[in-house]
Amino acid sequence: MVTRLVLVLGDQLSPDVAALRAADKSADIVVMAEVMEEGSYVPHHPKKIALILSAMRHFAEDLRADGWQVLYSRLDDADNAGSIPGELLRRAEETGASEVLATRPGEWRLIEALDAMPVPVHMHEDDRFVCSHKEFDAWAEGRKELRMEYFYREMRRKTGLMMDGDKPAGGKWNYDHDNRKPAQADMLRSQPMQFTPDDITEEVLDLVGDRFGGNFGTLRPFRFAVTRGQARRALDHFAKELLAGFGDYQDAMLRDDRFLHHSVLSPYLNIGLLSPLEICERVEREWRAGNVPINAAEGYIRQVIGWREYMRGIYFREGPEYPRRNALNHQRGLPDLYWGGETGMECLKRAVEQTRDEAYAHHIQRLMVTGNFALLAGINPTVLHEWYLSVYADAFEWVEAPNTVGMSQFADGGIVGSKPYVSSGNYIDRMSDYCGACAYSVKAKTGEGACPFNLLYWHFLTRHRDRFARNPRMAQMYRTWDRMDADKRDTILAEAEGFLDRLGRGEAV
Ligand SMILES: Cc1cc2nc3c(=O)[nH]c(=O)nc-3n(C[C@H](O)[C@H](O)[C@H](O)COP(=O)(O)OP(=O)(O)OC[C@H]3O[C@@H](n4cnc5c(N)ncnc54)[C@H](O)[C@@H]3O)c2cc1C
Ligand code: SF4
Repeated sequence: MVTRLVLVLGDQLSPDVAALRAADKSADIVVMAEVMEEGSYVPHHPKKIALILSAMRHFAEDLRADGWQVLYSRLDDADNAGSIPGELLRRAEETGASEVLATRPGEWRLIEALDAMPVPVHMHEDDRFVCSHKEFDAWAEGRKELRMEYFYREMRRKTGLMMDGDKPAGGKWNYDHDNRKPAQADMLRSQPMQFTPDDITEEVLDLVGDRFGGNFGTLRPFRFAVTRGQARRALDHFAKELLAGFGDYQDAMLRDDRFLHHSVLSPYLNIGLLSPLEICERVEREWRAGNVPINAAEGYIRQVIGWREYMRGIYFREGPEYPRRNALNHQRGLPDLYWGGETGMECLKRAVEQTRDEAYAHHIQRLMVTGNFALLAGINPTVLHEWYLSVYADAFEWVEAPNTVGMSQFADGGIVGSKPYVSSGNYIDRMSDYCGACAYSVKAKTGEGACPFNLLYWHFLTRHRDRFARNPRMAQMYRTWDRMDADKRDTILAEAEGFLDRLGRGEAV
């Protein structure tokens, strides 16, 4: 009988992942490998590397306990070949295996590497998602615009989540207009569940500290869940303690509350410790039991079966070059403040500090603080994409690239978003308590100490007038600009230029 290797990657840690389902426990050999190439193709946050390696080691133990034969390569094994294809070839030689079963990776780079292997690799579609590639393409085919909202409704119908027969529960598909409240500090608000590292995790933390200690990001304290059991407890805790406020405070930001009502489940979901449907079913149950309001449950489920699935569909539909798109031709390098360099801009400082400490920032911090600033300042989207891919524990290219390149930077020319997500300081002031502690004044539109977002916002709109002036969702902004006094407009643009020059010279801003 031919021996086959079964490849399980670090983000495929689900007992029912396609390659394992296709394999024969009594004859096939599972290969799992910690390799330098995956650990270093971007400078990943040490917490992200530790999460994946510890979860892999725990998963390998579970597989062995379940009767699988597992060949596990540690990063510091002397004969580690350093890459996934290299490790597969080494294991093939060692075992005499002549075929590999794999679940299709979530990144073109690895798909291409496996396709190029001299050993035949049978690639199974990763079906841990609600929507297959075929279904997404069928939905997208022939549409002029790929709007998430319509895709989401299809996913609601398909899963039956929050549906009463063929009608949306409560009568509306989307309760987003209830979800834009600023938050107040609340000492009683619960925090996401944290876990004490066990011996396996401690060993991984030492290894990661040794090998990746120089990367941006604080390794300890490390509090992530690393097993499915722990991730289930984190879900349970979120559903009971935090979900009820998720809708209302989804867009809010507070200096001293890094998580608010967010679930911090994406790291577990994206490596396979939890499945999207089990999370959503749990959330719906809380609503049906009357424990949480409909805007919280619907809002949460929309993120998971709507945005998350939609982003994956876009990534695979658009192909390997998608992360390098640059529709607005933005060429500025990434300012040092993204790596913790000094800045007086409180919102950016806080978002980056939290990113460094937690390998986490919530959606509005990513979109309307770090993303918004990058877009207004004209930062190269590919460089920015590499930053987001590096610094967040949940960052895998299939979900990170469409969020960064598409949603946040409009670098795909409007596939993901019908208009760019840009705002002046007003939005940040309304949704956060950052501005009160800032070196800049959000109320000042020009002059000494004017909030840089206020200046750059108009600079961005002026730079891209040809592209956006006819966009019906942006026409009002251009009318406001055109009605402004000409001298004031000149001052804003000159001050924005001055700010960008300082940024370009590497000065602290
Ligand atoms: C520039 C940028 C980069 C991003 N990069 C990533 C990334 O690398 N990985 C990632 O999982 N998400 C990414 N997101 C989406 C979103 O910010 C994160 O999913 C979310 O912050 C994760 O935290 P949470 O689990 O507390 O989310 P919650 O606020 O609790 O949301 C619940 C779940 O919904 C899903 N979700 C919410 N929004 C999105 C979205 N826009 N796209 C996909 N899934 C979504 C996530 O799985 C998340 O766990 C990015 C967003 C932006 C604007
Ligand atoms: S004033 Fe401007 S730069 Fe400062 S925190 Fe507010 S939005 Fe950010």
